[in-house]
Amino acid sequence: MIVILKKGITQVEKDKVKSFLKEKGFIVKEIVGQEDTVLGAVGKASIDIRTVEVLPGVSSVVPISKPYKLASREMKKEDTIVSVGKVKIGGNRVVVMAGPCAVESYDQIMTIAESVRESGAVILRGGAFKPRTSPYSFQGLGEEGLKLLRKAGDAFDMPITTEVVSPRDVEMMAGYIDMFQIGARNMQNFELLKEVGKTGMPVLLKRGLAATIEEWLMAAEYLMASGTDQVVLCERGIRTYEKATRNTLDCSAIPVVQKLTHLPVIGDPSHATGIRDMVAPMSLALIAAGASGIIVEVHNCPECALSDGPQSLYPSQFDKLVHDIQALCPVVGKSLERVPRAAEAKKADDNADASSAMTVAFQGVRGAFSELAAKRSFDDNIELLPCHTFADTFDAVSSGKAKYAVVPIENTLGGTIYDTLDLLAMHPEITVVGEALIRVVHNLISLPDAQLSDIKKVYTHPQGLAQCRKFLSEELPDVEAVPFFDTAGAVEYVAEKKDKSIAAIAGEPAAAYYGMKILRENIETDASNFTRFYVIAREENAAVYRSEGKQDKATLSFSVSNEPGSLASALSVFSENNVNMTKLESRPIPGKPWEYLFFVECGLPEESVFEKFVDEMKEKTVSFRLLGTYTSAR
Ligand code: PEP
Ligand code: MN
Repeated sequence: MIVILKKGITQVEKDKVKSFLKEKGFIVKEIVGQEDTVLGAVGKASIDIRTVEVLPGVSSVVPISKPYKLASREMKKEDTIVSVGKVKIGGNRVVVMAGPCAVESYDQIMTIAESVRESGAVILRGGAFKPRTSPYSFQGLGEEGLKLLRKAGDAFDMPITTEVVSPRDVEMMAGYIDMFQIGARNMQNFELLKEVGKTGMPVLLKRGLAATIEEWLMAAEYLMASGTDQVVLCERGIRTYEKATRNTLDCSAIPVVQKLTHLPVIGDPSHATGIRDMVAPMSLALIAAGASGIIVEVHNCPECALSDGPQSLYPSQFDKLVHDIQALCPVVGKSLERVPRAAEAKKADDNADASSAMTVAFQGVRGAFSELAAKRSFDDNIELLPCHTFADTFDAVSSGKAKYAVVPIENTLGGTIYDTLDLLAMHPEITVVGEALIRVVHNLISLPDAQLSDIKKVYTHPQGLAQCRKFLSEELPDVEAVPFFDTAGAVEYVAEKKDKSIAAIAGEPAAAYYGMKILRENIETDASNFTRFYVIAREENAAVYRSEGKQDKATLSFSVSNEPGSLASALSVFSENNVNMTKLESRPIPGKPWEYLFFVECGLPEESVFEKFVDEMKEKTVSFRLLGTYTSAR
């Protein structure tokens, strides 16, 4: 049952409710949600819920309808975020776990770990105890394998996960690993589940070969009832009559499970398909279906692998896959989880200015798309600083009021945001350290009790009006469209006016922030509506952010003399050094009529080539500035 507590409950009252339930034989978990604090009470005991309802401090009691209780969404509405070392799984993140099927040798695991980490994996996998169909197949290196996996995880700063097959190994394994993996064959090994659950450690729970979703969630319940709340579910294909693939990947299980449980769910396309060439498309399908990540088998020499070679990706295939996943993330409103390598993070921290904690500025009011971009670009524990104008946002970074800011640079429909380029030119102390991509999904947002037929006026930014013209003309032809300075600002305005006849067009975060209702979602005419943002910082704070990924892109500006061929000669430096230019803009230089500053985005070649390129650019231009190097958002 779920015991919903009154807002003003005292600690003494809460303790009394807890001990009452425990005395009756329940396991009691306190869950602090955004709206309510509840006590989840589960167990074999049965009780008349009215005896709980009358206790001081109790608001109401709701029975849980599902057989799994602690794992159910009824118990906890918010997504659970599972922490494995520094890696967080769940919410808006996409986590990539990779490694070989089995740890085979020191060289093998070190080589693979280095390569998958470089490509973007943040958790290392590798079996040490292998549940093989044949007793004559390689069974894994056992404890020796765990030691090697730990070494590789530490060397490349990745938490490690590996399969546990026997309750007697649990204690020993807990000393080496960061997350237990329960394999498909053991999903209903209840003694194993209880023993692993008792450790309180994170667990990756594979779906059994022939398990229904309910049986799978009951297995999660065993883990949770035994003492861990850190469970990640993993769909890895089920046994069907189809023989073309090793198993049948049940992609639809992802959205089904997400409705039923608050636990994160990832997918394993390697064991689902058993075929290397199918791993990438099925990985993308899993992410598109809403999975919080994937676990993939990668081998430096799949032909020599001691197990599951045919389904193991070559490192280059894995590298491409991570890039493709990164490109897909904004479509599903997520971002790829990145974790800086410890050594780099420390170096960066030493350089950082500790006085201005982690304040991130953005232009607009709370709930703006820029706020979403800020949240996607940083960890959860940042302080947000809404600024009135773009200039204020730059000033906040410049003065140290904010360590970082997130500013839009380009929209796929509206084009370049020139304010941002002009402000970059005016602020030589500011540098670009990162890039974020947000999908712009517009919604018609009203007061909670309004209906579509009530709406007479719609407020939003002129771009929002332009981007939703089709919806407005077809579904609300008589409604007056009123331009407003900001999309989220329009939601704030409607909320303040408390007028059922007005609505706003904005993103979902704005509706949530101001407690408003989404009357219609996805009302934008063109679904390929993305905004790209720069993360900016003062030079001395740049290293902390840059350390989080492989830098592959640069933004620079230059001006050339007013004579024939000067621009062509500067641009030839790009082609001569094989540097790929992806964007070119020109802006007037203030105080110099008819003279222009050119802005370029380009790929970042290896260091020696880039140094030569910069030297040559300086020679061929009147002014040259490197505005920043960063990891592309693709
Ligand atoms: C594995 O991950 O190596 C494995 C054996 O997976 P599953 O339990 O899903 O078959
Ligand atoms: Mn395997």
